[in-house]
Amino acid sequence: MTDLLTRRFDTLGPYSPLFYDRPLEFVRAEGVWLTDAHGDRYLDGYNNVPHVGHAHPRVVAAIAEQAATLNIHTRYLNDRVVDYAERLLATFDDALDRIVFTNSGSESNDLAFRIATQHSGASGILISDFSYHGHTQALARVTTGLRAHEGLGPHVRTLRIPDLDGADVDGPAGAQPEDAVLDAALREVDEAIASLQAAGFGVAAVLFDSLFSTEGLNRVPEGYVRGLAERVRRAGGLVIADEVQSGFGRTGRSFWGHRNHGIVPDLVTMGKPMGNGHPLGGVALPAALLDEFGPRNMYFNTFGGNPVSAAAGLAVLDVLADERLVERAQENGRAIRAALAQLGAEHPWIGVPKGDGLFFGVEVYDRPAADAGARPDPARTKAVVEAMRHRRVLVSRIGRHDSVLKMRPPLAIEAAEVDLLLATLADALAEVGGR
Ligand code: PMP
Repeated sequence: MTDLLTRRFDTLGPYSPLFYDRPLEFVRAEGVWLTDAHGDRYLDGYNNVPHVGHAHPRVVAAIAEQAATLNIHTRYLNDRVVDYAERLLATFDDALDRIVFTNSGSESNDLAFRIATQHSGASGILISDFSYHGHTQALARVTTGLRAHEGLGPHVRTLRIPDLDGADVDGPAGAQPEDAVLDAALREVDEAIASLQAAGFGVAAVLFDSLFSTEGLNRVPEGYVRGLAERVRRAGGLVIADEVQSGFGRTGRSFWGHRNHGIVPDLVTMGKPMGNGHPLGGVALPAALLDEFGPRNMYFNTFGGNPVSAAAGLAVLDVLADERLVERAQENGRAIRAALAQLGAEHPWIGVPKGDGLFFGVEVYDRPAADAGARPDPARTKAVVEAMRHRRVLVSRIGRHDSVLKMRPPLAIEAAEVDLLLATLADALAEVGGR
């Protein structure tokens, strides 16, 4: 392992992040179980890319069969690709009736920016003040979270995303009544738009993650996202919902996270779970927007939506339906919330359950969460993550203080595995709390 780590640093450099104080090396996986180089098995409570389960036999077979038959770039007709486009578009509201395929979330968001910029004739972008949407130059200039930002562009205005269950230290949230939080947050949107207009940038788009996951799974007031979308559209901009985290049924409540907010976006961007590990992304949009963009810009993507990718994407949709994974995400999510609330009663230094469906967590505090002055406690959160790793369950942490336990297993997780995840969390909390 040490040797492999050295060789990695000597080739890839030390800057591509690794998990854990002692990094793990996995050699195979199946369902929600990963096997490391020593033959030890870990329960995967973290990874959302293997959405329908690691190495799902149907996805593997679909990829292998198509790869053994034909893989070619996107300038030839191929029925698999069109089948997939039709099947995927059927999951969206009617207004979103075109799809452009890409290979990643970053490519999808970058393309969405280009479309919004050309449509609006403006360049201003609204973005959460703690978020991550990808690694291209355009996205690096709007990156505010994950320590990755290299300086915001002058055309960017940030929004503090309200959180009704958040730590009071974070702005419009906490103990205030929901109406007051909503008013304050929408006032910030108005101010940000006015500032972009005054500076001559205008408003091209707002880009947000429908789960506000990097922020820490914020519970926004009812009507916040609707109000945000209305204001951006009134200013001439487009609404881009980033469904890289929240899409494909992750929240259990809906196939797409934006539906939980009661909006239909102008552009929906996708990635991570779409190909169950095979690189596949996309942008869904109305025909009118594509017809405006297409004639003026050649968009050619060598790999985006090739036949093997389409086979992977189709198999994911099939498994989601046949194994009732979205419904199961909702059922499991409900049980998990109840269990997390129970754990909170036993360990008052963790906050209320956060998240939706199978993306859930709790904030970890330095004292009972209900005490005045309770502060998020990243060191304690890290200790819980490491304590779970030692019990061979993978989870992580998110949020502006890195203090929200992040749990996001493949949707294929079974009830007994959910129980194991929660029992391990209870043990880890007991160990860390007792320090
Ligand atoms: N959007 C969100 C919300 C993400 O979480 C990520 C990746 N963590 C991306 C976009 C970028 O996706 P990719 O790494 O596939 O480029």
